[in-house]
Amino acid sequence: MGTPSPVTIAAGGPVTLTDAQRDGRACVNCGSENGAMIPAGLLGGVQIFRHQVCPAKPVELDHVGAQLYTAYKNLGEQIADLTEKQKRVREQLEARIGDAPGATIGGEDVITWKWSKPGGGLDAKALAKDHPEIYAKYYKPKKASRPFKILGE
Ligand SMILES: [Zn+2]
Repeated sequence: MGTPSPVTIAAGGPVTLTDAQRDGRACVNCGSENGAMIPAGLLGGVQIFRHQVCPAKPVELDHVGAQLYTAYKNLGEQIADLTEKQKRVREQLEARIGDAPGATIGGEDVITWKWSKPGGGLDAKALAKDHPEIYAKYYKPKKASRPFKILGE
């Protein structure tokens, strides 16, 4: 996901712009007049603008895309169903294992079920409040995520 590089358009250049784009009201990339914009160069002495990242519109799926959507949703339901069934089987296995650290079949280890060491973590909010300089020094930004969500039921 790159940021589009600044556009520099010479007056009379090959790019065709709308009046709003020429007047510096609309983004020279997408044509929208909404949202914050940054300078994109000069056009015949007029400052023109563009979005840092143009607001994207959702894609309208074609019929193959719609079939993929339905297939994805149906598979999700099957997985949820199978996960539930697997959970019930697991509970029966756990009941057989009891407090033992695992199970064998024919003397061979097939399942381990051991306690891990008790975990713990930093209270980041409290640390940021009580020692903001230390918090800032060790703060590690996370990469942006792009969650894939299926809407509706
Ligand atoms: Zn734009």
